[in-house]
Amino acid sequence: MGASETDPLERLNALLERVRQRVPLYRDRLPGGRLTSLEQVADLPFTTKEDFRRSYPFQMLAVPREQLVRLHMSSGTTGRPVVTGYTRADMERWGERMERVLRAAGVTQADVVQNAYGYGLFTGGLGIHLGAERIGCTVVPASSGVTQRQVMLLRDLGTTILACTPSYALVLAEAVARDGGRGELRLRSGVFGAEPWTEGMRSEIERGLGLAAFDLYGLTELGGPGVAVECGRHDGMHVFEDGYYAEVVDPETGRPLAPGQPGELVLTSLDREASPVIRFRTRDRTVLVDEPCPCGSPFRRMRKIHGRTDDMLVVRGENVFPSQIEDILLSVDGLTGNYQLVVDRQAHRLDDLQVRIEARPDAERAGLRERAEERIKETIGLSVSVMVLAAGALPRSEGKARRVIDLREL
Ligand code: ADP
Ligand code: ZN
Repeated sequence: MGASETDPLERLNALLERVRQRVPLYRDRLPGGRLTSLEQVADLPFTTKEDFRRSYPFQMLAVPREQLVRLHMSSGTTGRPVVTGYTRADMERWGERMERVLRAAGVTQADVVQNAYGYGLFTGGLGIHLGAERIGCTVVPASSGVTQRQVMLLRDLGTTILACTPSYALVLAEAVARDGGRGELRLRSGVFGAEPWTEGMRSEIERGLGLAAFDLYGLTELGGPGVAVECGRHDGMHVFEDGYYAEVVDPETGRPLAPGQPGELVLTSLDREASPVIRFRTRDRTVLVDEPCPCGSPFRRMRKIHGRTDDMLVVRGENVFPSQIEDILLSVDGLTGNYQLVVDRQAHRLDDLQVRIEARPDAERAGLRERAEERIKETIGLSVSVMVLAAGALPRSEGKARRVIDLREL
């Protein structure tokens, strides 16, 4: 590669020129001229989810539709879905990054990879599949759901690597426990992402399934999984900086923050042909780490995503992140990582936060509720009412878990 292909400033300038020529949104929005330093990136306008929705389905493509060999979409439970496209070259690069993701989790040709991410429009299933096929391991395209069959396959096929959402990994761990325990499982690593999960949840999954859990980050707008992944140190995810330019900004002011400061992740794609994106506001909260990682990777790390700027609940004026509650619940002996937060305002016109949580089947139930309420009060200063349910009482998710039910909006 020549210097112009590796120097981020050169690559950004080439990208800006290309999107100004090809994408009307960027033609209208981006200033002309070249950047002379990376700091100037901070002056470029953001791209938002709303921009994607308004451009549905093809208005943000930088190539004619005929050049797409694949497209994916985000769930789009509310409003129009987000569409992302891939040329043949995009697929090649995505595959290469997904191969790296799996290699980071130690996958080799000898492995059996059970891919329980959903196949279809969602990027997760086919993304993992792509990387696994490149490695040449045995891919089991189980897709999500049909939990009993998943457990059977884990056992019968001697699955060594599991890929799915962390909430579904917990569901599988429970099913394994019900079904004779993890004694015969041969799982070694798991690649889990697509939703926020805490360190507490990591230990639950690792204990339940007997594997090392790797965090994988990505989003439809940037082409799906394969933006960042943990290395074997499990101390932050390395951002694939050969393909993505990452910034962390103050979610209020939009100004860039120094490494080490928590804020909102903003991503620019450096080499996507079909769906290039400039400064996408992910709404995901993290911290960029500037120190080198002992694993020797040249790529900087970001800390585990600790929620989204838009999943913050404001309850009686207090800011509450579901991940904070998750951490607290998992530190109380006898509780599982399955929880739901229900916010309501009916009773006394004050916000009411009810935390619904399941007890472990073998837990001593007496005093559990009080302990959880106290722990939450001590840690975040908020009085909540905890409802301890029997194991299995809350809905199970096969994809992304729905943790918050906000009845105040109704
Ligand atoms: P949708 O926007 O419909 O949920 P995506 O699959 O594109 O569909 O979701 C991407 C979002 O999922 C990210 O912006 C982030 O909020 C979340 N996400 C993905 N991977 C992780 C991860 N490893 N940790 C925390 N959150 C994640
Ligand atoms: Zn590392």
